[in-house]
Amino acid sequence: MDCIFCRIAEKKLPARLVYEDEFAVAFEDINPQAPVHVLVIPRKHIPTSLDLKEEDNALVGRLFQVANRIARQKGIAERGFRIVMNCNAEAGQTVFHLHIHLLGGRAMHWPPG
Ligand code: AMP
Ligand code: ZN
Repeated sequence: MDCIFCRIAEKKLPARLVYEDEFAVAFEDINPQAPVHVLVIPRKHIPTSLDLKEEDNALVGRLFQVANRIARQKGIAERGFRIVMNCNAEAGQTVFHLHIHLLGGRAMHWPPG
């Protein structure tokens, strides 16, 4: 299996890491859509949110804790930020390793495109 986010998590592909622990890794998006655009991923390869199992419940919570931590560190927590998880083609998912987009530093539009 050739997954770019697994390779980033294993440090076989370079990325601008902002956080890592036993379960999660966060890094700057290569094509940022906002002044802050960080991807938070589990080390475990899970293709989409549809593939989440009961046993992954705590892991999902950890991903949100990591996103919150980075939002605070980057100074966007109080101003506000957006968390996005695209699932499958019509949502625009292009990398099939679960990831949270943490976006902030500018006003967000609603509804999203
Ligand atoms: P999605 O479209 O939700 O699957 O998001 C995939 C995201 O991964 C996009 O925002 C890409 O810009 C980003 N991306 C793809 N390859 C890399 C990479 N090597 N390093 C950092 N971000 C990447
Ligand atoms: Zn993967």
